[in-house]
Amino acid sequence: MENKACTNCGFVGRPKKYTRGSLVREIILWLLAVVPGIFYSVWRISTRYEGCPECGAPLMIPENSPIARKILGGD
Ligand SMILES: [Zn+2]
Repeated sequence: MENKACTNCGFVGRPKKYTRGSLVREIILWLLAVVPGIFYSVWRISTRYEGCPECGAPLMIPENSPIARKILGGD
């Protein structure tokens, strides 16, 4: 897996997978009411993203891209 650069803080490395919402709330919803539980699960899966492990910003781009090189100042 190639490294990615964060356009927010300049971190370079492997992005971290983030899932919005909480698993506890998802389980409670499923126990109390199935239909909202389904919607909540679908929402969590659809909003899952890879972000910067340092600042959490979902703005990571491939390390070798021209924009990343410009940000990092290397070439
Ligand atoms: Zn960052």
